Formats: sequence, structure tokens, C-alpha cells
Amino acid sequence: MARILLLLAIGFAIYLLFRGFFRSQVGGETKAEPKDVEDMVACSLCGVNMPRSEAKEDGGKFTCRDPASCKQPR
Ligand SMILES: [Zn+2]
Repeated sequence: MARILLLLAIGFAIYLLFRGFFRSQVGGETKAEPKDVEDMVACSLCGVNMPRSEAKEDGGKFTCRDPASCKQPR
């Protein structure tokens, strides 16, 4: 029984090592990791929701980065 627990502990340690290894290999290359989901913000002009990185912050308000795609309802 103790041997099985030891094997499980070793396996888990190896798993953690590999996970850390691959994570450091990937680094900041992949932009959209499911873990750190971006905040969604709403455009203050047209109300469209978009990820924060796609919005343009202007004086504490978020607007569409591309003015052409920002359709003001009024
Ligand atoms: Zn907009």
C-alpha cells in the first residue's frame, strides 16, 4: 500500500514538473489561455461587448478600437 502511495506521489511530482516545464516553454507566446480569460468591456458609444484588449480606453471609458466598426445607435 505504501508503495502504491509512493508511486502516486512520484507520478504527481513528475506531472507537476512537466506541466511547469511546458508552461515555461510556452511563455507568453499563446495569447488566449483559457485560464486567464480577459475582461469583457462594453463600448461606451455603441454598447458592443468586446475583450479589453480589443477596446480602446479613452479617459476611463472603453470604445471600439476601430471607429468604422463602432456604430452609434443615435
Ligand atoms: Zn463602439
